[in-house]
Amino acid sequence: MSSTTGHSPRRVRIAIIGAGFSGLGMAIRLQQAGIGDFEILERAADIGGTWRDNSYPGCAVDVQSHLYSFSFAPNPEWSHTYSPQPEIWDYIKRVSAEHDVLRHVRFGHEVIGGEWNETTQRWLLHTAAGDVEAQFVISGMGPLSNPIPPDISGLDTFAGHTFHSARWDHDHDLTGKRVAVIGTGSSAAQFVPEIQPKVGKLLVFQRTPGWTFPRNNRRISAVEHALYRRFPVLQRLVRARQYLYREAIAFLLQSPKRVGVIEGVARRRLRKQVADPDLRAKLTPDYAMGCKRIIVTDDFHPALTRPNVEVVTESIREIRPSAVVTADGTEHEVDTLILGTGFQVMPVADPLRGRDGVPLAQRWSTRREAYLGTTVAGYPNYFMLVGPNTATGHTSVLLYLESQISYIVQALRHLDRSGAPSLDVRPDVQDAFNRDLGERLAGTVWTAGGCRSWYLDSDGGTSALWPGYTWQFQKALRRFEPADYRLGTASEVDTVDSARDLDLVKG
Ligand code: NAP
Repeated sequence: MSSTTGHSPRRVRIAIIGAGFSGLGMAIRLQQAGIGDFEILERAADIGGTWRDNSYPGCAVDVQSHLYSFSFAPNPEWSHTYSPQPEIWDYIKRVSAEHDVLRHVRFGHEVIGGEWNETTQRWLLHTAAGDVEAQFVISGMGPLSNPIPPDISGLDTFAGHTFHSARWDHDHDLTGKRVAVIGTGSSAAQFVPEIQPKVGKLLVFQRTPGWTFPRNNRRISAVEHALYRRFPVLQRLVRARQYLYREAIAFLLQSPKRVGVIEGVARRRLRKQVADPDLRAKLTPDYAMGCKRIIVTDDFHPALTRPNVEVVTESIREIRPSAVVTADGTEHEVDTLILGTGFQVMPVADPLRGRDGVPLAQRWSTRREAYLGTTVAGYPNYFMLVGPNTATGHTSVLLYLESQISYIVQALRHLDRSGAPSLDVRPDVQDAFNRDLGERLAGTVWTAGGCRSWYLDSDGGTSALWPGYTWQFQKALRRFEPADYRLGTASEVDTVDSARDLDLVKG
């Protein structure tokens, strides 16, 4: 197999892309399954993925920590019901170290391209640090790992300081500054209450108001920690209760009508938190709750009522060197611009070219279609963690991730037993799966909720979310079904491998 660098590619059986929750979780389970020939290709210089990159003030998980942890690595020490980012990052590091997978991580290995070779039945990956040839590629790139700046004219002319929430500049002192925040999603809702007391003036530019849901975060007591350490079953019970509670939310999200029940509660809470009717009107959504990601917060709206805060709903026309200019012509003078504008959705495998040489990004230009969020027809031996239709608006994504990990381990074992070099999901199986998803998504808050959101594709469908309950996803992936896949044949590969081995012997 030829390499773009001119050097022979490094060979490994399994290349995992990304050392976040997904890639490291996969690595741990591979190791436990006795599969040791893998590398984790990580673009950065440290592990942790999104929990390394997002360090903005107030950054914390918005699903209870007992549920937002690996089932095989419960953490009795979580400090809060919703633990903060540094603790989650530490958890990832500790669990990875305890399971001895860190030695498999190759830092500075951003995957910039790759193609499937039908003859060798292997992937050739091009990374920033050279080429890697792998029989299997598993993407743990994360669905929201690349921050995107807003498409606003003049953004690059701003002469003050600008940064994205996912690249927080901790050296930039906000004390007394006039700060503009663009965006009011889950990230902004967490950092706005933290920076509001510090800044001189805070202008929050809101395009669409978000529905909020109570967080009720609290410190977990020393007694609870001791009980969880002594009786792990108690922690499992708490986790099970949280799981069921969140499945009940999934029930409500099945239709805009059902979710109306909790919209009333959210409206009443907004009335309590925001006395000013004009501000309250600005903050009241006009679409079904859950259509966009629900913001789990108790302090976002109260922070917006403070005297040094102004919520600007006029759309942004342009940015000038010292101001944000809105459509009504008002120039809002600011010193610092913080972009809470979100992420490119699901960059998984964008650079990879499958059987027909087409990059996945191109194949997916209107709709990301996969099978069980894990495999894609025409891209053999390629698995995705948190791929299409695996995002969740109601519970912990780690539940989905763990199902996928165990499915992939089963697939690898099946191939081992069969002696085949590759598997590729049957296009008809993938099509039927996606037709079914489309039917199940119809009428839910995500497609019929009347909003614009990162969940939605350009054609109004969604390839981001799983439309049902978590248990349904877990059931669908519980058993790897060989009949869903076409297996490659070994003969060609044997020939290529023998020739290569001969070349190696010849030197
Ligand atoms: P986001 O939800 O995509 O929000 C981006 C915000 O920027 C929205 O308010 C959007 O307005 C606004 N925006 C984008 N472009 C704009 C423009 N050109 N002009 C004006 N406003 C613009 O991003 P995020 O808050 O970073 O959150 C992303 C996701 O990360 C969340 O949905 C959630 O899944 C995850 N998250 C999770 C946690 C956690 O605790 N686990 C915490 C933070 C984030 P529109 O609404 O009008 O598009």
